[in-house]
Amino acid sequence: MIAPQANGVNGTTLAVGAYENLIREQLQMLGHNTKSDGLLETPQRVARVHLEHFNHSEDPIADAALHLKPFDAPANPGLVSVRCSFSAFCEHHLLPFFGTAQVVYLPGEQITGLSKISRVVNELCKRPQIQERITSETAEVMMRLSPVGVLVDLVAEHTCMRVRGVRDACSSTRTRVATGDFKNDVDLRNQAVSMLD
Ligand SMILES: [Zn+2]
Repeated sequence: MIAPQANGVNGTTLAVGAYENLIREQLQMLGHNTKSDGLLETPQRVARVHLEHFNHSEDPIADAALHLKPFDAPANPGLVSVRCSFSAFCEHHLLPFFGTAQVVYLPGEQITGLSKISRVVNELCKRPQIQERITSETAEVMMRLSPVGVLVDLVAEHTCMRVRGVRDACSSTRTRVATGDFKNDVDLRNQAVSMLD
């Protein structure tokens, strides 16, 4: 059972019942019987999915950066690489896309917990998104550690490419952003790229 009200975007209050009604009406407009066994609780379920997933404040970058909780880097920390999974909804079709994100960085004076990087990526997924933006925003958040450089590489499957439009069941999309010294120092960037799985 969902509470009658939930926190909406930017501190607004969302009337969950009204939201469920919208989803019910949508199904009815499409000609479906929303009293059937299978669809009876669907509006509630869809509301739950949306409320759980689209749950961000007005400054998602700042929210994501809160996860970093930096601490002092050891001497000569070397390259750090973390690979994690993520899932998001595309802002064009509200269909899911999901895959892996790999973040490679060369710390300056600060590092962050390894699991925090996964939290950063997934925090950035809490609004309708595009893969390109998650990639660049992850790099932007990681730059708050003042590292020497950051490389972010995402590979994802987009259901909007698989179930509609081109209907390409084997498609996948890769996006990559290099920032800091990785942007212009080819040797350093190549070292970072060699860490990619
Ligand atoms: Zn899409």
